[in-house]
Amino acid sequence: MAATILVIEDEEPILNLVVAYLKADGFVVHTAHDGETALAVAQATCPDLVVLDLLLPGMDGLEICRRLQYDGGPYVLMLTARAEEVDKVVGLAVGADDYLTKPFSPRELVARVKAILRRSRNVGTSQSPDLSLLTFRDLRIDVARREVQRRGTAVTLTAREFDLLHTLAATPGRVFTREQLLERIWGHDFDGVDRVVDVHISLLRRKLEDDPAEPTLIQTVRGVGYKFAGQQRYGGEQKL
Ligand code: CA
Repeated sequence: MAATILVIEDEEPILNLVVAYLKADGFVVHTAHDGETALAVAQATCPDLVVLDLLLPGMDGLEICRRLQYDGGPYVLMLTARAEEVDKVVGLAVGADDYLTKPFSPRELVARVKAILRRSRNVGTSQSPDLSLLTFRDLRIDVARREVQRRGTAVTLTAREFDLLHTLAATPGRVFTREQLLERIWGHDFDGVDRVVDVHISLLRRKLEDDPAEPTLIQTVRGVGYKFAGQQRYGGEQKL
């Protein structure tokens, strides 16, 4: 079944272009020009993904994004006018799944949309073959047992290290800021500093990476945070 996309953008030419490209690719597309309408359309159509402009009349994109974060809510691809706003989008932990800086190519936008949907299918609730087991090339994460194996050998992780790895690996390619990781793993009330995330990433890399100085699994996204770079595979038991 074709995925449903809601495009929220007040600039008509951009809206029309994005809609045309998404429709040409077979997506079912709904539109809205402002936040209030967007939330009503989202409620009525339950889109799989929302393409959301940051700057809108009335309610801005960040607020809309926050309101779309209910359980089972859509994935969000944020559009920003300036590169500096990226910090705002990612840094405020509003939960956007990806972003594009204007001007962007509509082809790139369609590619990003597909990537998010593909990613979400890999970890999604209904279509994932086995959520309790994450398998990447030679890394195996047994979520239920909280056990990790690298090339068939058990790796001993602390509870925090495991939570950190699980959080990153559950959505490969998604960039997490230090603040987001702090909040998810250490909790809202944690009274520490960002540095604690870096320290744990460094410990994880020492245990998991062939060369901790040149990490291939947990990668640093300069100025933003960290992401898991592995490609998930199914069928679990095979080895490359
Ligand atoms: Ca706008």
